[in-house]
Amino acid sequence: MEGKDCREIFKKNSIKTTKQRELVFGVLTDSDVPLTVEEIYVILMEQEKNMSLSTIYRILDVFVSKNLVQKSNITDNKAVYEVIGIGHKHHIICISCGKIIALDHCPIKEYEIALENETKFEIISHKLVFFGYCPDCKKK
Ligand SMILES: [Zn+2]
Ligand SMILES: [Zn+2]
Repeated sequence: MEGKDCREIFKKNSIKTTKQRELVFGVLTDSDVPLTVEEIYVILMEQEKNMSLSTIYRILDVFVSKNLVQKSNITDNKAVYEVIGIGHKHHIICISCGKIIALDHCPIKEYEIALENETKFEIISHKLVFFGYCPDCKKK
């Protein structure tokens, strides 16, 4: 995502629009899976939009502080970033190699409705992550 839509979202979250912020946000919204800083760096490089790792870190910090992006620590030295609330995806994460797969449907939509009826809450979101060993790591 870039351009007008992106600037709207920034405005709503009181984030000043810069070209670099737009680019990083675009990479995150185009991705099905949460990304590490290094992965964002490589994708930007492939698009010939070179940015230093420290610049990307700084931009992500702004997004995280404005609740636009969620940072999750998979392991002590690996954190991934994903945009909050755009597209609804669940993930399965390999705790050995850190591979992340996006699931293409939400398995608990019906449960959410039942839970709303039961608790009278208006549920606006939920988080669900699966952890395990991927086929490659299982073999070892
Ligand atoms: Zn694995
Ligand atoms: Zn869901």
